[in-house]
Amino acid sequence: MGLIVQKFGGTSVANAERLRNVAEIIAETYRQGNQVVAVLSAQGDTTDDLIEKAQEINPKASRLEMDMLLSTGEQISCSLCAMAVEALGLPVVSLTGWQAGVQTNSSYSSARIKKIDVERIQSEIDRNHSIVIVTGFQGINKYGDITTLGRGGSDTSAVALAAALKADLCQIYTDVDGIYTADPRHVKGARKLEEITFDEMLELASLGAQVLHNRSVELAKKYQVNLEVLSSFERKPGTKVKEVAKNMEKTQISGVATDKNVARLALVGVEDRPGIAYKVFSLLGQKNINVDIIVQSIGRQGTQDISFTVRRSDVDHAVALLQEHKESLPFDHIDVDQSVVKVSIVGAGMVDNAGVAAKMFGALYDADINIHMISTSEIKVSVLLDESDAKLAVQAIHDKFFGE
Ligand code: ASP
Ligand code: MG
Repeated sequence: MGLIVQKFGGTSVANAERLRNVAEIIAETYRQGNQVVAVLSAQGDTTDDLIEKAQEINPKASRLEMDMLLSTGEQISCSLCAMAVEALGLPVVSLTGWQAGVQTNSSYSSARIKKIDVERIQSEIDRNHSIVIVTGFQGINKYGDITTLGRGGSDTSAVALAAALKADLCQIYTDVDGIYTADPRHVKGARKLEEITFDEMLELASLGAQVLHNRSVELAKKYQVNLEVLSSFERKPGTKVKEVAKNMEKTQISGVATDKNVARLALVGVEDRPGIAYKVFSLLGQKNINVDIIVQSIGRQGTQDISFTVRRSDVDHAVALLQEHKESLPFDHIDVDQSVVKVSIVGAGMVDNAGVAAKMFGALYDADINIHMISTSEIKVSVLLDESDAKLAVQAIHDKFFGE
């Protein structure tokens, strides 16, 4: 028994039947003696549809008016859900971000939560014993305007509310039933994790396991909000995300992830002297081009090669920028390879386990897959491979760590 924040995503509230199902989950939790604050996304594709409507009227609409419009999607799902809970005979109230005291900065359409005044919610819970349903994805700024938090922002709303209310648990209900050791749609033998750490989740999210919004996990880690990811369609336990996770199966890693949004650039024939790497990467940094894996070759005859990865969408920008400074860097030419992928293993226990990286490389060797680049951190080993090898590589690595 305690205070539980439950967040339901767009798919989970897409139609009347699903809203009734969500109302049942909320009611069940409440009847078990818990206090419940639910945070909802807009129904199905509502937010996309609203954006389309705006495009028809004015493709250059101000972000202030866009936020006014987009915030209505969540108001619809929340009021309808409250009606469904009312129909079950339980006390309930739905609140907008503004009513719920969610204060943000003024970055319309990508606002950050500054503070949550929980007085109203708390009094609904304490005095009226109400279930409270709050619109995700939105707040209000110091001018009294409605702001939205950026696409997918309802996870962040839920975690922020859980932190402000000092909730015992924040459940994220979605259309998958938890976090898996690999993408279950593509990897044979992928299985659901009972628990995972915040750090592992952050790595997996940034590596392309799109279950939780990254900002929400960062926030959960910062305020130590226990999360659980679970399905709204099946009543069974999901995956718990917390500071320290039990490794039930004593596996050395928690998961294998693939990131396709990566390209490799190589500056070939760069002069071998101090300050070149500094210059290259500060140029890219100033333009907000994120660089991930970096490999510098050994110098020969006064020149060397510097290879690194960037997001595919940044390739043209990065190449243009470096060409612009070709004279001062100087280098011979730039080599671009866009048909690569990054495959990573993630595990909090890795630091204490010698040989984890070797085991990964062994799996790739057995599958006859060539590695272009490698990078490691305390909880992650990433390799850059040919895109055509990705599927086989992930399966081989997964089999090696999780196979019987
Ligand atoms: N409805 C918003 C969106 O589609 C927020 C969310 O779903 O989290 O981006
Ligand atoms: Mg959505």
